[in-house]
Amino acid sequence: MVARMVELVLEKEAEFSALDAAVGDGDFGASLAKGFSKLREEWEELPKEDMGAFLKACGLLIGEECGGASGPLWGGAFRAAAKAAKDKEALGVEDLALLLDQAVLSIQKTGKAEAGDKTMVDALLPAVKSLVQDAQAHLPLEEALKNAAAAAMEGAEATRDMVAKRGRASYLGERTVGHPDPGAMAVGILLQGVYEHRK
Ligand code: ADP
Ligand code: MG
Ligand code: MG
Repeated sequence: MVARMVELVLEKEAEFSALDAAVGDGDFGASLAKGFSKLREEWEELPKEDMGAFLKACGLLIGEECGGASGPLWGGAFRAAAKAAKDKEALGVEDLALLLDQAVLSIQKTGKAEAGDKTMVDALLPAVKSLVQDAQAHLPLEEALKNAAAAAMEGAEATRDMVAKRGRASYLGERTVGHPDPGAMAVGILLQGVYEHRK
C-alpha cells in the first residue's frame, strides 16, 4: 500500500500543487513529493519484516523531508499508525481501521482541525467510519478498501462547499469556497489508487 502511495504522490505532484494554488501557496504537491521521493530512494534500506518498524521509518523520513504543514502532519500520522501496527502480522479490515483512526487522531492533535474545517481530516474521518462499519460487517479487505476510498472521495468533494478554518487556506477564508481542499483530495486519490492497485 505504501509503495503504491509513493508512486501516486510522485505521479500527481503537479495536480496536487495546482489544487493548492487555488486555496493556498501552491506547494502541496512538491511538499509531499519531497518526502515520498526520499522514501523511494531509501526503500531497499527500510525495515520490511515488521509493519510497525516499517511505518515508523516511513513516518520519520516523511516528517523530516516533507515541507510545509505536510511534514509534521503526514509524518505524525505514519508514526501514530506505526504504534497501532506494533506486533501486527497481517492487515485485516479492523487493523486498517485502527491504523487510520490513530493517524487521524494524530493529525487532529497536531493541527487542531475538526470535521468541517476544510482539511484532509474531512476525507479521513469518513474513511475511518466506513472501515469500522465494514469491519463489523466482516467484509473482505478489498471491498472495505473500495468503500473507504469512495467515502474519502465523497468527503473530499464536500470540502468544496466549506470555508477553510486551518492552515494557509484559512487566510483566504470565504474565498476558498468552490475549491476542494488539496489534502482531502490527496487522501481520496491515494486511497482510490491503493484500492485499484490491489483489486
Ligand atoms: P502549507 O500550508 O504549509 O503550504 P501544504 O501545502 O503542504 O502546507 O499542505 C496543505 C494541506 O495540509 C491542506 O490542504 C490541508 O489538507 C492540510 N492541512 C493544513 N493545515 C492543517 C491542519 N491544521 N490540520 C489538518 N490538516 C491541515
Ligand atoms: Mg501549501
Ligand atoms: Mg507552504
